[in-house]
Amino acid sequence: MFFLFIFILGLLFGSFLNVVIFWLESNAGEDEEIKLGAKNFRKHLGGRSFCPSCKHQLNSKDLIPVISWVFLKARCRFCKEKISVQYPLVELFTGLIFLTTFLYFRSEIFSAISYWLLAVGITKLVLLLTVNCLLLIVFVYDLKHKIIPDKIIYPAIVLALSYWLLAIGANYLYGNISLASSLYPLLSAFGVGGFFYFLATVSDGKWMGGGDIKLVFLMGLLLGFPNILPAMFIGFISGAVVGVVLIILGKKKLQSEIPFGPFLIAGTWITLFWGDKVVEWYLRAFL
Ligand SMILES: [Zn+2]
Repeated sequence: MFFLFIFILGLLFGSFLNVVIFWLESNAGEDEEIKLGAKNFRKHLGGRSFCPSCKHQLNSKDLIPVISWVFLKARCRFCKEKISVQYPLVELFTGLIFLTTFLYFRSEIFSAISYWLLAVGITKLVLLLTVNCLLLIVFVYDLKHKIIPDKIIYPAIVLALSYWLLAIGANYLYGNISLASSLYPLLSAFGVGGFFYFLATVSDGKWMGGGDIKLVFLMGLLLGFPNILPAMFIGFISGAVVGVVLIILGKKKLQSEIPFGPFLIAGTWITLFWGDKVVEWYLRAFL
């Protein structure tokens, strides 16, 4: 029951993430093409949600996460305009993120031996949950527009820094201060950030852009060492495979047309949530 509650909470929060994505698109600044697609956002902010196409006010039965989309057969109830599959997918994924992030902290929270450690555990949970939601926004936005928005990635980096500092503090409370937990995340962040900066400079921004550098810096902070290695590996390999398949299918002409961010984020989540198994496999296979 409790896990179902967490999942449904995630679904509802996913609706909010869709609104944030819409807000980013309507405030895309110089990028007119993105802006045009979402020019009705101010109506959105007016309190009630509107259909972006016919501007008809939506009521609660149009706004139930996932379920509304399925029962309306992906069309607006009033103008029959298609509703993007992005809406239910983001909601579903936010539900899964809530569930997996909660399970990730379950033992730390339930086995906390003092209120102080319980507070630390819950704060870490909230921080990581927020970072993961921001990463989902980056995932969708980069996939759609090939841009990693600063408005999302900078706050995510600040939260990841807080998460890292809190983890050091918690380890200090447990009395097991170690080099791996204190310094490796920062070293990993600067390591991969520097590597991507080098690749971007050498290729004059063709292989990867500034957004990718910020994203891998965030990954380093979250994952530390050696977990950053399999995350990168998964990102590079899946990106290359999908890229080659799309080029063969004739859907894309150049590697540079395919955004790299979503693959890196997929690698981050796989390593974060299945860390021990993935790292063990990676180290056995490659080192
Ligand atoms: Zn409509």
